[in-house]
Amino acid sequence: MNAVVTPVPAAVEIVALTKRYAPGTPAAVDQIDLRIASGSYCCLLGPSGCGKSTTLRMIAGHESVTSGDILLDNRNITNLPAAARGTAMMFQSFALFPHLSATDNVAFSLKMKGIGKAERHKRANDLLERVAMGHLAARKPGELSGGQQQRVALARALITEPRVLLLDEPLSALDPFLRIQMRAELRRWQKELGLTFVHVTHSQEEAMALADTMVVMNHGVIEQVGSPHAVYNHPASEFVARFMGGHNVLDTPAGPIAVRNDHMRIAAASEGTGGLAATVTDVEYQGTYVLLGLALDAAAPERQNVSVLLGEAAFLARPYAQGEPVRLSWAEADARALGPGVKPPGERASAPAGASLRDDTAALAMTL
Ligand code: ADP
Ligand code: MG
Repeated sequence: MNAVVTPVPAAVEIVALTKRYAPGTPAAVDQIDLRIASGSYCCLLGPSGCGKSTTLRMIAGHESVTSGDILLDNRNITNLPAAARGTAMMFQSFALFPHLSATDNVAFSLKMKGIGKAERHKRANDLLERVAMGHLAARKPGELSGGQQQRVALARALITEPRVLLLDEPLSALDPFLRIQMRAELRRWQKELGLTFVHVTHSQEEAMALADTMVVMNHGVIEQVGSPHAVYNHPASEFVARFMGGHNVLDTPAGPIAVRNDHMRIAAASEGTGGLAATVTDVEYQGTYVLLGLALDAAAPERQNVSVLLGEAAFLARPYAQGEPVRLSWAEADARALGPGVKPPGERASAPAGASLRDDTAALAMTL
């Protein structure tokens, strides 16, 4: 019998959340609003320094909040200590104690709580069974592979019965092959446990593979929230289109648009008119696809480089060579109008302070 109790997942709500590390400096996280559905896999995605870890640490209670609120199932946890929140954190390095066995690593927080050895070992070993590590419970981290260490770290995070698991770049210490394997495993654990996962990554590929909901951040604010499919197929801004990759940003009289590089149409310059004149600069064979790099003949410098992804068969039927003049076009239905996106902090007008929920819910939180 498995004695492990699965905790109930919780929804996370963030209201006008702001973090300013020092007065007078730009906010690292600037009045963000976000609702993460209970039992979902949410990825915070964006370039280095955009405020992902700061957001996660504020949810965990490892970083104080400058203003705004964090709610777990409508309970305001903004000022609760980390251990009282119902969240647990899993780190990039796994942060396992090298001198302790897997069992003792997992049981560590129970020991801190003064729970007796027999009970804490039983609970730790039950959890290790659950992550298919029961047979290796006596091993120390140095005697385990990277993937096995990740499972021990997961069991250790779960021992506190969190309702929300927070993961900060949990896969970036692994080699590429193991990273893809562990990514699938994390996704499977999330589905099996049914918990809410909030996972920080700078890899759009990782976020696309894992997330129910992707939150694309830039300069301390949220640029776009949506399913991977929605974000990839309808990028809201030039930043999102470029960060997600696989898109060209093109100027049109109606404003900038994004077109997926596999939706671009290409023809030899001699074979037609219309579209944009361009020159092939690079031909990269990728197996299933061939990626053509091109330079537009007439475009602003930052919009000059575009790419076209052709299926291998299409390329072999009509190969293009470096230096060849071509014309590029696209179907109207494949063009996505781009919004302006967010400006860097220095160029942003400061928004009015968001309404704080703290007054309404502080009393409630005290009673829970
Ligand atoms: P990310 O995880 O997206 O790479 P972070 O949340 O770590 O970004 O950082 C956001 C911004 O806050 C960055 O400009 C970073 O330099 C700054 N920052 C992060 N942690 C601290 C800290 N402890 N003290 C001061 N500034 C910090
Ligand atoms: Mg970070």
